Amino acid sequence: MSGPGTPIYPVWTLQRESQTCGHHVPVPLPIHRETSAYPTEKPENDVEAPFLCPESGLVRSYSRSDLHRRPSGSTGPYQADQLLLVYIQVECVDSNCKSLTKIHVVWDIETKSAKCATPPTGRVTSPDVLCESGHQLKSLQATRLRYYKAAAASPCLPNFLP
Ligand SMILES: [Zn+2]
Ligand SMILES: [Zn+2]
Repeated sequence: MSGPGTPIYPVWTLQRESQTCGHHVPVPLPIHRETSAYPTEKPENDVEAPFLCPESGLVRSYSRSDLHRRPSGSTGPYQADQLLLVYIQVECVDSNCKSLTKIHVVWDIETKSAKCATPPTGRVTSPDVLCESGHQLKSLQATRLRYYKAAAASPCLPNFLP
């Protein structure tokens, strides 16, 4: 329990209820904090970005409204250099379509691997995650996985993420 004087750190996660996944996906600190001058201002377009859930292995799209902040007694795993946000690029099922869809993955720095309790064969992409032309994505098993560090200026990232 935290008493007076105990520093409280905000830890950010993405979470959206569903029958198959209601887990919290840890994410880095948002770079754009809500300013108190416009506390009720709604974001104009609530950008969605797909993330791999480290518990269920399910890839789903999350938006800013799925962002949750929890107080923690210790610094978050990203500030503590335990986790890193990376992404993979997945092709869609249409071989004429060249678009690659970025899926964000939580990376465990110590084990140098994706942080996911589900083995690669059990990781699935929700049917509502589509390429920019609206096609279904290839299965993760059919994808040669290469991990890229999520860059600060990456346009695929909603601006609530670094
Ligand atoms: Zn999950
Ligand atoms: Zn496509």
